[in-house]
Amino acid sequence: MVDPRGMCRKHLLGEHNEIHMFVGTLRAKTSVGGYIKKGLLEIHRLEERHIELAQELKHRGYQHESPLNFTSRNPKFEFRGYVDARRSYADLHTRCATCKARFKRILGKGKSWIQLRKQVNDIFSVAVWKAYTNTVMEKSVL
Ligand SMILES: [Zn+2]
Ligand SMILES: [Zn+2]
Repeated sequence: MVDPRGMCRKHLLGEHNEIHMFVGTLRAKTSVGGYIKKGLLEIHRLEERHIELAQELKHRGYQHESPLNFTSRNPKFEFRGYVDARRSYADLHTRCATCKARFKRILGKGKSWIQLRKQVNDIFSVAVWKAYTNTVMEKSVL
């Protein structure tokens, strides 16, 4: 997942809305298999990710009046889906100049773009490996 500090307003609010939407979809018992296959959803991380995004929203002075009322700590949701953080970074940085500039300004701290990208890759190769092993451990069927 992308560090919320490096996300522009539009993408931060967008991902936050998506989480509420996914939870609504799960409550309605509508299939989310398509999102999981496309690598757009990690059910077991929705709660944690919502906290991260809501904290960043508050930190930037936005009102957050939308409790999620959802727990990922349900054995049913263990290791469901996997989002490739490196791909998410690449998407944001290719598509959104604001995210790219913000990421470099907030997290780059004087580093060159190449150094920063290497740092991101180093961090996320560990995260990707962990997520991969989690996915392999997943036994249940969607
Ligand atoms: Zn919320
Ligand atoms: Zn953006």
